[in-house]
Amino acid sequence: EAKNNGKNTFNFFTQELNDTVKERLDIELALTKALSQDKLELYYQPKVDFHKQQLVGYEALLRWMDDDLGFVSPAKFIPIAEQSHLILEISDWVMENAIKFVSSLDNKVPVSINISARQFESGTCSETIELLIKKYNVDPNLVELEITESYLMADVEDAILQLHEMKQIGVQISIDDFGTGYSSLSYLKRFPVNTLKIDRSFIQDIPHDVNDVEITGAIIAMAKKLGLEVIAEGAETKEQIDFLQLNECYLVQGYFYSKPLPEHAARQWQFTNLK
Ligand code: C2E
Ligand code: MG
Ligand code: MG
Ligand code: MG
Repeated sequence: EAKNNGKNTFNFFTQELNDTVKERLDIELALTKALSQDKLELYYQPKVDFHKQQLVGYEALLRWMDDDLGFVSPAKFIPIAEQSHLILEISDWVMENAIKFVSSLDNKVPVSINISARQFESGTCSETIELLIKKYNVDPNLVELEITESYLMADVEDAILQLHEMKQIGVQISIDDFGTGYSSLSYLKRFPVNTLKIDRSFIQDIPHDVNDVEITGAIIAMAKKLGLEVIAEGAETKEQIDFLQLNECYLVQGYFYSKPLPEHAARQWQFTNLK
């Protein structure tokens, strides 16, 4: 059948390829415009300690509402931006605005910034951060960098060097999307980081998925053994919070407590005990 339809199959694939390329170009163009017109925005998602019942930090998350394309998720446009110089401009913009936000907060809690693959590869992260910390006169302890496990594993020796540079400045570091990047225990011991952030994909099917229950329990136990903080990303239900409580993981970032919020709402957000 494949033989008979060879021609159609070919057309089908080229059409699909064209659509993908076109979408990528559309997004790249629109993103360039959005940057120059200052149309990107940072939202801030609260992180809580539900045992102490308090706000313990925020994660800065990009939001982009395009006039023509509508809402475009960062999960979609960041990987596209990573393929061009755009990511460097976006990253600089994110860093500057997130650090400005830190300097404007009355309650002194850390704000996390997601580091892009290119930024990390370029090796200029700590330099940029150091300059901004001085410019806005913020306590480096209130800045946390989130670096995904897969970026760290791409070049372990370079990653360790860069992490040490960052630690020297005094910022906190967390390994994002933890559990998806296959790092071994021996590496983990060598990474000077503060926190493991358990990927949402493990949390979302708790308590129903037996594997995810086991994996999450193991990550929490391992973090404790290594003396690291551990935070669960993407908890949405009371059952998930109960599971985390049982496993003594009290740090959570998820819709159960709050979605990412625009700056003014994030600033006013307060912990309330939910049943
Ligand atoms: P991430 O860094 O792992 O961020 C966490 C994602 O999980 C965010 O998605 C957040 O909105 C979502 N999330 C948190 N709690 C829940 C929950 O309970 N339920 C559900 N369904 N989702 C939850 P978002 O904002 O769409 O960002 C997606 C990814 O895009 C981020 O994953 C990060 O990799 C990237 N990203 C976002 N902002 C930036 C940025 O400023 N710079 C860079 N380099 N990447 C960014
Ligand atoms: Mg993150
Ligand atoms: Mg994450
Ligand atoms: Mg994630």
